[in-house]
Amino acid sequence: MSRVALVGAGAVGTRTALDLADHGVAVTLFERGEIGWDGETAVETPGDAASSRAAGVLYDAYAEDVDAALGARSLERFRAFDGTEGFLFHECPYAILVREGDDERAAATRRAVERMREHDRQVETLAPEQVGERFPTLHADDLAVAAVADNAGWADTGAYVAALLTTARAAGVEIRDETPVTLASPTTVATPGGRESFDAVVVAAGAHTAQVCAGVDVDLAAVPYRVQALTGAVVAGSPGSGDGRVGGDGGGADEGSAGGGGGDEGGGADADDSPHGGDPHPGPMWYDATAGVYARPHPDGILAGDGTVPEATDPDAWDREADDWFVADTREVAAHRLRGSAAATGDSHEASTSGEPTGDTDATTTTDPSVSVERSWAGVCTATPDGDPLLGHVRDGLYVATGWQGHGFMRSPAHAELLAELVAADLGVATASPASVPSGETALSAFDPTRFPAGVEFEVREGMLVEER
Ligand SMILES: Cc1cc2nc3c(=O)[nH]c(=O)nc-3n(C[C@H](O)[C@H](O)[C@H](O)COP(=O)(O)OP(=O)(O)OC[C@H]3O[C@@H](n4cnc5c(N)ncnc54)[C@H](O)[C@@H]3O)c2cc1C
Repeated sequence: MSRVALVGAGAVGTRTALDLADHGVAVTLFERGEIGWDGETAVETPGDAASSRAAGVLYDAYAEDVDAALGARSLERFRAFDGTEGFLFHECPYAILVREGDDERAAATRRAVERMREHDRQVETLAPEQVGERFPTLHADDLAVAAVADNAGWADTGAYVAALLTTARAAGVEIRDETPVTLASPTTVATPGGRESFDAVVVAAGAHTAQVCAGVDVDLAAVPYRVQALTGAVVAGSPGSGDGRVGGDGGGADEGSAGGGGGDEGGGADADDSPHGGDPHPGPMWYDATAGVYARPHPDGILAGDGTVPEATDPDAWDREADDWFVADTREVAAHRLRGSAAATGDSHEASTSGEPTGDTDATTTTDPSVSVERSWAGVCTATPDGDPLLGHVRDGLYVATGWQGHGFMRSPAHAELLAELVAADLGVATASPASVPSGETALSAFDPTRFPAGVEFEVREGMLVEER
C-alpha cells in the first residue's frame, strides 16, 4: 500500500488526507498544534490554524471559470458532509454591496456578475429598492448596486475540521498532533521522534508551507499576512460610547473565541452551532465592498470581518488579538449596514438565517443599532503574487497546497479533492471516481506552484477584490 505524509491538519490537509485514504492510500497526518479528542471524536482543532480562525463564509460567486467550478464543487461537498459528526452547513444568500459614488466598483461588479452567470452561477444584480424588499434587515438606501449569490451558506469552521478529523481517523488516517515536521528530503519527514520516508509528502501547512519547503530548497511565492474577525450582538438603540467590547478581546483560540475548542461557536464539534442554539442576527451574509467589511449570522449575533493587514507577518510571531482600529471600523460599518434593520427571530432554520421576509418572522424595526463585541481575533492567511493558490507538484514525490488569499476555507473541499486525485494518480493508485472537477487539469495548471521565478517579490494585497475576480 502506498504511504503518504500529510503536513498540516487544517481544512485543506485534513480533507486531502481523508480523500487519499478513500483512494486506498495509507496516510499519516502530522500536525504541530494540539488536537483535543473525546474518545474517538475530535473536539479541539489546532488553535493557530487559519481554518480554526476563519469566518466560514462560503459561496461560489466567482467570475473566473476555474474558481467558479471549484467553488461550486466545494459547496456540493460541504452539503454532502452536512450532518457528519456534528458539522452543519447553513444555507444563506450572500450579497455583495457597492455604495453610491463608488462608480468603478459598481461597474466592475455588474461585469463580474455577467461573467459569473456565464459560468452558470446563481447570481443576480439588484437595485437598492430590491435589496431593501428582499432583505429588510439591510440598510440599502446608500447603495448603487448589489449582487446576490444564492448558492451560498456559512459554517463553523472549527467544527468542520473537527468533523473531518474524526472521520479521517475512522477511515484509517493516522493522526500525530504536537508533531512539528521539517523535510529531510522531498519524501522524508523529520520530527522530534526521528526520520521517516514516504512514497509522497503533501505540505498543507498554511502560513508555514513556504518555511517547511525551504528545507529542501523549494522556493514558494507565498507570504503570510494577518486577517481579523469579530463576533457580537446587534443591539437596538444608540451606539454606545467606548469600544463596545464585552469582556475584552476574547484573545483568540486560546480563550475559546475562534478555533481552539474546535470552532468559533465554542466547545468543539459538540458545540451547538445551530442557529437555534444562539441568537443569530438574520441574514443575508453581506460584503460591503466599498467599506471592505463582511458579516454573516452567528450565534452571538453576527460574525464580521475583513481586517486585512496587507503586509508580511512572521508565521511564528504574530499578534493573535484584533487591532483596535479593526474593531472600531467594523462595528461602525456593521451598525450602519444593519441600520433600520429588524431584530427578527424566526422558527425555521432557513427563515432565521436568510434574512428574507417570512410569515413567521417577528420583526422589530429600530433605527440605530450598535454592535457589542463578544470576541475578536486575528489569524494568518497566505498571499501569492497573482492571488491564486499554489497547488500541486514541486519535486519528485513532494506536493504543496497554500496561498488562498483569505478564501481558502470555502474552496478547500474541491482543492483537496483535486490534490488527492493528482497524488493518487502519480502513485498509480486507481482512482475511485473520474476527475471530479471538469476543469481539473486546467485548475492544476492555473495553480502550478512553480509558476513564479525563485525569489519573486510582490506586495501583499487584500484577498479577492470584486473588481478583479
Ligand atoms: C479571520 C479569518 C477569516 C477568514 N474567513 C474566511 C472565510 O470566510 N472563507 C474562506 O474561504 N476563508 C477564510 N479565511 C481563510 C482560511 O482560513 C484559509 O484560507 C484556510 O483555512 C487555509 O487552510 P489550510 O488548511 O491551508 O491552512 P491552516 O488552516 O492554517 O492549516 C495549516 C496547519 O498546518 C500546521 N502546521 C504548520 N506548520 C507545520 C509543521 N511544520 N508541521 C506540522 N504541522 C504544521 C498548522 O499548525 C495548521 O494547523 C479566513 C482566515 C482568517 C484568518
